[in-house]
Amino acid sequence: MITIDSIHKSFGTTEVLKSVSLEVNAGEVVCLIGPSGSGKSTVLRCINGLERYDGGAITINGRQVDADSRDIHDLRTRVGMVFQRFNLFPHRSVVENVMEGPVYVKHEPRSEARKQAIELLEKVGLGDKVDAYPQQLSGGQQQRVAIARALAMRPDAILFDEPTSALDPELVGDVLTVMRDLAREGMTMVVVTHEMSFAKEVADRVCFLYGGQIVEEGNARALLTEPQHERTQDFLRRVL
Ligand code: ADP
Ligand code: MG
Repeated sequence: MITIDSIHKSFGTTEVLKSVSLEVNAGEVVCLIGPSGSGKSTVLRCINGLERYDGGAITINGRQVDADSRDIHDLRTRVGMVFQRFNLFPHRSVVENVMEGPVYVKHEPRSEARKQAIELLEKVGLGDKVDAYPQQLSGGQQQRVAIARALAMRPDAILFDEPTSALDPELVGDVLTVMRDLAREGMTMVVVTHEMSFAKEVADRVCFLYGGQIVEEGNARALLTEPQHERTQDFLRRVL
């Protein structure tokens, strides 16, 4: 579904992605791990066209991702993104946040969008927070709203960029549970995370990024328990 073919990316004279290649099949969960600054967020941002890449190619369902093209907005409706900071609209209620995309981008009728938003909020365990405002919710609840908001666009895939890194430890579990459920339902997911136990349990594959390159990629359990590359071994020793 997602094919990344030797993409390069520089900011000024700094090359931050050096020939990154990755394939994600429909229904697969791929986790990206690696030290801070290794290029994980940049990979995700290139996939949904928030950042342009300088060389190589990314295609989604056979269509090339081009941040400058006119159908980049259409592409973004098909690939959801969930960030470390939830970016909810503070002056809109929870259900309005979830309805936003379907109503304003997809021009769905409000009543339909609201009905669907409520179902999604129930799915992420927030059926009782429909009319609350973001600041009345915990970080973990806000992140689950952000996931419901991404799902509301009925995306083909969702990209997660450290979705639990900004949360208090006791709130992480509920967010990971929602993500685990999505994976079980067959959602295609690319997840940047430091939650190694989540990666081990849920990911089909794990890629270790270092210095803008994927230095090791493989079956999640194998890579996390028996990393082959010295850089991976060193990284995992630090985080586990
Ligand atoms: P990670 O998510 O793995 O921490 P990033 O993809 O955010 O890494 O960043 C990779 C490298 O690119 C870092 O060295 C970072 O400083 C640099 N970088 C990221 N975004 C920008 C930007 N907009 N301008 C300049 N440098 C950037
Ligand atoms: Mg990052």
